[in-house]
Amino acid sequence: MKKQENPENEGLLVRRIQNGTVIDHIAAGEALNVVKILGITGTTTESLSIATNVLSGQMGKKDIVKLSNRELSKEEVDRIALISPRATINIIRDYKVCEKKGVEIPDMIEGLVRCPNPGCISNTNEPIRSRFIVTPKGLHCTYCEWVIARDITSNII
Ligand SMILES: [Zn+2]
Repeated sequence: MKKQENPENEGLLVRRIQNGTVIDHIAAGEALNVVKILGITGTTTESLSIATNVLSGQMGKKDIVKLSNRELSKEEVDRIALISPRATINIIRDYKVCEKKGVEIPDMIEGLVRCPNPGCISNTNEPIRSRFIVTPKGLHCTYCEWVIARDITSNII
């Protein structure tokens, strides 16, 4: 007798969502950093599913993040490019992919990353958002010229 399929379990890893955003082709191991860069914490209300080390013909292994009931803005999408430039974003409405876009490395990042220089004006009590220009060498603070060359995620606010 044929085993009955359980629709609840079918494709659990990559279960379809009704509305929201699927971030695909994330570099393997970067899914949690993508979640961090999007500002999702245990106290936010998004329904989130993460699949890591999914086999991919194109990339070998990749991570996938699915967010229910949230469509990412262009600014949020482009932030992901800082850690995973090959990621693709699928906006889902009523179970269908409505929009598919790549990520572009932004020219400037505001309010996302903390300047590591303790003397930087963006680290004082002044109401100033941090601001970095993105260059191939890293993130340049526009206030103090500090450069974050690697490990951007550990400086995320
Ligand atoms: Zn600075």
